[in-house]
Amino acid sequence: MARKKFIAGNWKLNCLQAEAADLVNGLAQLVQSVQDVDIAVCPPFLSIATVRERVKGTPIKLGAQNAFSVSKDGKSVMSGAYTGEVSPAMLKDAGVEWVILGHSERRQYFGETDAKVNAKIRACYEVGLKPIVCVGELLEERDLGITNSVVEIQVRGCLAGLPAEKVAESVIAYEPVWAIGTGRTATPAQAQEVHAHIRSILVVLYGQSVADQVRIQYGGSMKPDNAKELLAQKDIDGGLIGGASLKAKDFADIILAAR
Ligand code: PEP
Repeated sequence: MARKKFIAGNWKLNCLQAEAADLVNGLAQLVQSVQDVDIAVCPPFLSIATVRERVKGTPIKLGAQNAFSVSKDGKSVMSGAYTGEVSPAMLKDAGVEWVILGHSERRQYFGETDAKVNAKIRACYEVGLKPIVCVGELLEERDLGITNSVVEIQVRGCLAGLPAEKVAESVIAYEPVWAIGTGRTATPAQAQEVHAHIRSILVVLYGQSVADQVRIQYGGSMKPDNAKELLAQKDIDGGLIGGASLKAKDFADIILAAR
């Protein structure tokens, strides 16, 4: 089944308002006519409004880097006494369409677990936001030969109990932690192997048809010069781009490589 490629930029903790405006304006010019690749940028929360105004009338969709929710009495919390947090309902209200959840930096620095990610995904589904769910192994885990089981535990934990029709519209990002921000990219064969494994887990959980619809992005030092080969792999349906999404030309070149 042909899946439309999807390239998303994770701006992380970067860009003041004016820089965010310049970056998205520059990108919009470069990708204005792209229709055959889905594109999203995920600025920090405070730049969302700035970016939202500038993506109007362009092919660029708006994403966020996180959302907060927990399950309380069987319901997803969207407001209340959770100082400093931003809920999926607030993001939806702000015009966001996609949300990165479970990024390894959130797992590493903010105690994000698969169970927490699961509650966040559920809450996103409730308000009509689509998640980009990040999974990936540490270097030690790859060296121990347990990459597939680590990723399987993450996928099963993050998606536990979630409805097939929503999962089908979601994105999974395979991001080997050792490749994020390091300049060290997984080889296309290494990435393809894990992507195929993730899809096989989805087949077991949801059946072939759903598994065929889910887009699986690769993330980890994807750049204009390695994007084409990675994106040519059968189960690599796009990229989640950190560093290279901060330069409009580099990010646009990756988008063009996905065509
Ligand atoms: C990321 O943060 O999701 C990422 C893939 O970063 P980078 O492209 O910089 O490795």
